[in-house]
Amino acid sequence: MMYDVIIVGGGPAGFAAALYSARANLKTLLLEKLFSGGQMATTDLIENYPGFEEPINGFDLAVQMENQAKKYGTEVVNDEVIDLELEGKIKTVKTTGKEYKSKTVILSMGAFPRELGLPGENRLKGRGISYCATCDGSFYRDLDVAVIGGGDTAVEDANYLSRLCKKVYLIHRRDSLRATKALQDEIFKNKKTEIVWDSVITGIDGDESVESITIKNVKTDSETKLKVDGIFVAVGTIPNSDLVKNKVRLSKSNYIITDERMETNIPGVFACGDIREKVLRQIITAASDGAIAAFFAEKHVGSI
Ligand code: NAP
Repeated sequence: MMYDVIIVGGGPAGFAAALYSARANLKTLLLEKLFSGGQMATTDLIENYPGFEEPINGFDLAVQMENQAKKYGTEVVNDEVIDLELEGKIKTVKTTGKEYKSKTVILSMGAFPRELGLPGENRLKGRGISYCATCDGSFYRDLDVAVIGGGDTAVEDANYLSRLCKKVYLIHRRDSLRATKALQDEIFKNKKTEIVWDSVITGIDGDESVESITIKNVKTDSETKLKVDGIFVAVGTIPNSDLVKNKVRLSKSNYIITDERMETNIPGVFACGDIREKVLRQIITAASDGAIAAFFAEKHVGSI
């Protein structure tokens, strides 16, 4: 079966691309290995996506995006893409069970949370160390936790966890937050959170589960132990671009480089959302990327 557009990855970028592609009457397949929504699906409350006066839950928004794309004819298959042949007019997309052909491919595999790289981190993953506050926060009801990072994710996670936990430490390596002003205002008012400035985590203690962490003040070099039951790591993301390494042009940090039409260095191959090298990674910019990618995929299909 020949498709016009195959989209790899079902986050907001992928579903926006699917919506625009299907509505342009292109034969559209979206492949998603796990669950729809990507990182958005693990976000508790989204307050900055237009059209929702009241905050919307990320999982609910993902379901709506998927249903909307399907309503206009997108075929959605849950399967993992294991290889791509992107050169030439007709592209091949191989999954664990099947091989698909398409005139264009849109890459929207998103990004995943970066780890701290500390000894003990692997051993204690899921036993006190988490990379997803909305997934695991409820295990720490009335307990003390630390969130590491100073970006939107860390501050949002700290605000969210403060509604469940006894005490939340936000540990940040600098003396000012990277997060947007609205999130900062919220955390500065939050009485259950304490921001530990200029500090990095240097050790994690615990046999069966996390018992305490060691933090170092980077200005004074002094180390202190903090008793916490859980650590939420929010120190940025890494693009899911392994599949296309040596196939499309990547930035130094392994994000896919596109032009403003979202096209990669290979004709007919587009990228959109968090996997793309860009300045603002938000749901709205992912959706915008997806619409643009589909628009130019349609032009490409028409030209071959
Ligand atoms: P991010 O913006 O890259 O922030 C990562 C944070 O972790 C930074 O504060 C950084 O410190 C810190 N950090 C990085 N490496 C570290 C290390 N090894 N040790 C200690 N701290 C470290 O990542 P993010 O917060 O996950 O956000 C990713 C993207 O999604 C951003 O574009 C963000 O705007 C977007 N996002 C938006 C929302 C929203 O709009 N509500 C919510 C979540 C995410 P420095 O500040 O010193 O660099």
